[in-house]
Amino acid sequence: MSVASRPTRRDVLRTLGTAAAGVALAGCGGSSMAGGGPVTQGSAPWRHRGAGSRTWVPVEVSPDRVTRTLVGLRPYRPGGFVLRTERLDDKPVIHNYGHGGGGITLSWGTADLAVTEATTMEGRDVAVLGCGAVGLATARLLQRRGWKVRIYARDLPPDTTSNIAAGQWSPFSVFEPDAVDDRFRDQFRRAARLAYRHYQDLVGPDYGVRWIDNYSISERPIESGSLQRDLPDLFPGIRDLGPDEHPFSAPYARRVITMIIETAPYLRRMQEDVYRAGGEIVVRELRDRREIAALPESIVVNCTGLGARDLFGDDELVPVRGQLEVLLPQADIDYIMLMGNGLYMMPKSDGIVLGGSFERGDGSLEPDPRTTDRILRGHEEFFAQMRSRIEERA
Ligand SMILES: Cc1cc2nc3c(=O)[nH]c(=O)nc-3n(C[C@H](O)[C@H](O)[C@H](O)COP(=O)(O)OP(=O)(O)OC[C@H]3O[C@@H](n4cnc5c(N)ncnc54)[C@H](O)[C@@H]3O)c2cc1C
Repeated sequence: MSVASRPTRRDVLRTLGTAAAGVALAGCGGSSMAGGGPVTQGSAPWRHRGAGSRTWVPVEVSPDRVTRTLVGLRPYRPGGFVLRTERLDDKPVIHNYGHGGGGITLSWGTADLAVTEATTMEGRDVAVLGCGAVGLATARLLQRRGWKVRIYARDLPPDTTSNIAAGQWSPFSVFEPDAVDDRFRDQFRRAARLAYRHYQDLVGPDYGVRWIDNYSISERPIESGSLQRDLPDLFPGIRDLGPDEHPFSAPYARRVITMIIETAPYLRRMQEDVYRAGGEIVVRELRDRREIAALPESIVVNCTGLGARDLFGDDELVPVRGQLEVLLPQADIDYIMLMGNGLYMMPKSDGIVLGGSFERGDGSLEPDPRTTDRILRGHEEFFAQMRSRIEERA
């Protein structure tokens, strides 16, 4: 089935088997479907027992609803993000980069740890390298302590990877479990907890952060991953839904309540906060260690994301390419879907984000038409199945 043609009901039913067979719980995937307008339900809404009721509205997926295709490069290190200090001549450089697919999520947490490290050093004037989510959170925490901050960055929002992120609060796809030691795991858990707490202070329209239900589906009973077992308090509202409580074709469905960060307004507001607190932002590309050592500030915090690979020769840092298709907004979609086969849907006010591409080592920022087709087709099928089940039930 081509994404250019809307599936008939028969098409949809025929594809149910193959689509459902691919469904499995993913660490940070999503799910979706196809359809026309909102489905009007009869007197039998799907209810979560003990968790209130929800009116399920499928996402309308079709090529003519796509407003833009976005491509970004996740700054991934199998060994996890780098949070440590080195000295260039006498100048301390605190590294804070390499957050993979969870940099929006973890930004306030690793920033908090980096700033705590900075308090042990001489000087209260800091150069923050980078103006993505990590650099901005670092700058704000330094300013809250009354320090003088100047950000140096080659690109500013909206031209950063952080702007492209889908924006779910989800500390997944950050490291390879076999490639990290207990010390890193401890640091990671501390960062996740700190970040989770910081973001809760930002919930509301000012920063574009809100709580949202997140559903994942599976052909098999869903088991919590190691992160959910390690940090159960960061995944509240976990509930396995009975077959009568959800309109998905897969037999198993789980809800967890999380946050979504609307990256465009969030990063804009963060930049404004830096200015309001007396900070400066200088557009400048730093080319090597010598230029960094020559900066006038006493301390440097390196939040250059993937840029750290060339700037500091970190060969472990690799791009993990991600492509997103953004559909026209649909105000009545108020849930995240993780489809288990790597596809995911996240609703934002500037559009419905459809994702599901993770190409390690691919540094191309060009949209790939085959990926577009795969993402749209997969979501079309998913939401068409959902629509059918809702109609059968109504
Ligand atoms: C498709 C996709 C979906 C994603 N979804 C999520 C999600 O749902 N949740 C989540 O938490 N994360 C998600 N991520 C991951 C997230 O986007 C990244 O982890 C995060 O943006 C990294 O932030 P950063 O500030 O380190 O890097 P960036 O946003 O890339 O910022 C780096 C900054 O450093 C500057 N810089 C680099 N090199 C130099 C230099 N030499 N001199 C001066 N300045 C320099 C850049 O110009 C920029 O200002 C997603 C990523 C992609 C691609």
